[in-house]
Amino acid sequence: MTNLNEILGQKIARLREESTLRTLKDTERLKKGHIARAGESLLSFSCNDYLDLARDKRVIKAANAAATKYGAGSGASRLITGNHPLYTELETNLARALGAEASAVYGSGYLANIGVITALVGSGDLILADKLSHSCIIDGSQLSNAEFRRFEHNDLAKLDAMLERHRRNYRNCLVITEAVFSMDGDVPEMEKLYEICRKHNAWLLTDHAHDIQHFSNSTPQRDNHIVMGTFSKAFGSYGGYVAGSQELVDYLKTASRSLMFTTGLPPAVVAASIKSLELAQAEPERAQKALTHAEFFRKALKNNLKSADMCNSSTQIVPLIIGRAAQATEISAHLAQDGFLVHAIRPPTVPANTSRLRFSFSAAHDKTKVDELAKLIIRYFNED
Ligand SMILES: *Cc1c(COP(=O)(O)O)cnc(C)c1O
Repeated sequence: MTNLNEILGQKIARLREESTLRTLKDTERLKKGHIARAGESLLSFSCNDYLDLARDKRVIKAANAAATKYGAGSGASRLITGNHPLYTELETNLARALGAEASAVYGSGYLANIGVITALVGSGDLILADKLSHSCIIDGSQLSNAEFRRFEHNDLAKLDAMLERHRRNYRNCLVITEAVFSMDGDVPEMEKLYEICRKHNAWLLTDHAHDIQHFSNSTPQRDNHIVMGTFSKAFGSYGGYVAGSQELVDYLKTASRSLMFTTGLPPAVVAASIKSLELAQAEPERAQKALTHAEFFRKALKNNLKSADMCNSSTQIVPLIIGRAAQATEISAHLAQDGFLVHAIRPPTVPANTSRLRFSFSAAHDKTKVDELAKLIIRYFNED
C-alpha cells in the first residue's frame, strides 16, 4: 500500500531541509508600494506592478464601471459567449501600441505562452530557448512535442552554432527568449537575435512580461516575429497576450487550446487593462522612474560592496546573488525587520547555488526609501 499522505509528508520534509519549501502568506497590497502581512506593513520590492497602476484610481474606476454594467464573470469561453466587445477594443489598442497588425488576449501570460508555442510547433519541429526562460515557456515547449533544446543564457554565438548544426533536420524552428529576464533583469541583443533567426529561417518569440517600455516606443513588428506579454505585471491588471501578424492572430483564435478551452476574462479585468495600457502610454515617466531607482541602487551597491553580483541587470529588476538558499532567506528576514519586503528567490525558480534577493523597483517608490534600502544592504555585508 502506498500511502499518499506519507509520500507527500516525506517530500515536504525534504524541501524544508533544503530551505526550498514554499508556503503561501496572506498579503494585502496597500497604497504607495506597501503591503500588509501578519499585521505588519512593509514597503515592497517584490511586486511586479512596476508602473504602480494596480491601485490607480482611474484603472479601478474603469473596472468598477464594467463590473457594474456587465457583471462579475464572462460566462463562457471567448469562442462561445465570453467574447465581450471590450476584448476587441483592448486587442485593437494593444496591436497599435506594439506596432503589430493584430493581437490575441489570453487568460494569463502563462496561458499565452502555453497556447502560442503549442499552436505553432509540434513533432518534427525544433524549439531553441534561452536557458533562463520562464517555466511557462518550458512547459509550453514540452507540451508541444517539438524537439526542445536550450542555449546558454544570452549567448547568441551558441544559438547561431546550434541553428547551423541542427536547423536542417527539422521542418519549422522557433527560437524563444525574454525581452527582460525575470530573475536576472538583463536583456538580449534583440537586433542581432532577429538577424540570426532570419539567417537560419527560424521564427522568433520574445516574451515581454517584464518589459516596461515596449508599448511606448515600439517599432513596427517584423515578419516571423511573435511578441508575447502580460497585463498582470506592469499594467497592474490581469491577462496575457500574443501580438504579430493578422494570420498569426487569426490562427491562434481558431487553434490555440489555452485560448479556446478556458473561460473569457471578466469584463472588469479587460476594462482595467484598456485603461492601464492607455495610462502606460500617456505617462512614460512611470517607467522612467522605476528604471532610475534601479540605476541608483545598482550604483550604490557597486561603489560600496567589495563584490556584488547583479547579473548584468540593466532594467527595473535587480538581483543580488547570495548563493545558498538559507542565507538568502536570512537576509530577506533581516530586511523585513527594517520594514522592507524583498523576497529570496531560490531553486528551482533559479539554478542551484544562485539563490538571490530580487529587487523590483517601481513608480511607487521614492528615492529616500531606495537609498535607505541600499544602505541597509551595504551595512549588512560590510559588517559580516
Ligand atoms: C510572469 C511571467 C509570465 C506569466 O505571466 P502571468 O500573466 O503572470 O501568467 C510569462 N513569462 C514571464 C517571463 C514571466 O515572468
